[in-house]
Amino acid sequence: MEVFLATPRGFCAGVVRAIDVVDLALEKYGPPVYVKHEIVHNPYVVETLEAKGSITVQDVDEIPPNSVVVFSAHGSPPEDFKKAKERGLKVIDATCPLVTKVHNEARKYAKEGQKILLVGHPGHQEVMGTMGQASMELVDEREEINLPDWDPSTPVAVLTQTTLSVMDTARAVEEIRERFPNARIKNDICYATTNRQVAVKQLAAKSDLVLVIGAQQSSNCSRLRDVAEANGVPAFLINGANDLDGLPLDGVQRIGIISGASTPELLVEQVVKALKPEKVTTISSAAEDITFVLPREFRNTSSDRVRDQTMI
Ligand code: SF4
Repeated sequence: MEVFLATPRGFCAGVVRAIDVVDLALEKYGPPVYVKHEIVHNPYVVETLEAKGSITVQDVDEIPPNSVVVFSAHGSPPEDFKKAKERGLKVIDATCPLVTKVHNEARKYAKEGQKILLVGHPGHQEVMGTMGQASMELVDEREEINLPDWDPSTPVAVLTQTTLSVMDTARAVEEIRERFPNARIKNDICYATTNRQVAVKQLAAKSDLVLVIGAQQSSNCSRLRDVAEANGVPAFLINGANDLDGLPLDGVQRIGIISGASTPELLVEQVVKALKPEKVTTISSAAEDITFVLPREFRNTSSDRVRDQTMI
C-alpha cells in the first residue's frame, strides 16, 4: 500500500497563535487559565492544554470573578467581552487576526448603512462571534439559498465564514449576486482553508480513498472530507489512529492523507505508522510561511518561540 501525504496540512497560523496564547498565559499567570470555547476544534489539543492547567468553558458566566480567560481563535461577540468586564475577568483575546478582519468589515459596512449577508453555518462559534458585531442575515451555503426579501437595489455587503467550501460558497455568492447585482462581495475564506482544499483535490486525484485527520466538530476538516468526496473518492474524517478500525481499508492500494488546520502533526504521524505503508509520497501544492504576531502583552516574551508541529 502507498500513502500520499498532502502538503500543506495541519496547523494554520491562527491555530499556532491561539495555542501559544494559552501556553503563555499559563506561564505568566499560572493555572487555572480559563478558555472560553475550545481554543481550537481539536480534542487532543484541548486535553493537552487542560493537562497543563487550562479549563475550557462554554460561557463567560461559568468563570469565577477576577480570573484569567483566553477567548478562542474562532472569535467572540462583543457581548462576551462586556460580560467578562462585569465579572472583573482579565481577557486575553486569541481570535485569529483573519477572523478579526471579518469583524472589522462587518462593523464598517454597518456604519456605512449597508445591509449585510453572512455566508456561514448556524451555531458555529465563528458565526456567532461575527453576527454579534452588527445586524446581519445568515445564509447557509449547504442548503437551498434563502435570501431576505430586500429590494434588489438595496446596498448589500456579503461576508463569509473563513472555513467554508470554496466551491459551495462561490455558488451561493453567484445566487446572491443575481438577486442583488450591486452587492459588495468579500471572500473571507482564509488562506489555510483554501490551500488545504486545493491540496485535498490533488490528493483525491491520486488516491483510492482519503483520510482527513481531525475532529468532527472542525468546520475546515469537515469541508476537506466533502471536497474529497466531491472529487470522486470515499473520504473519512477521523480523530486519529484509534479510529482506523472499522474503516473499509482492506485491499485499498493508495490512501491519501490530509489534516485540517487544527490538527497536530503527531496525529497524522500515528495514522501513517498504524497503516504500515510500503511507500509514503508527499504531494505538495502550496508553500505556507504565514505567522501572526501574538497579542501585545506576550510579544516580548516569545520572540524566539517556535512551535514544533509534532507537539502542541
Ligand atoms: S483556519 Fe484560517 S481563519 Fe481559522 S484560525 Fe486558521 S488561519 Fe485563522
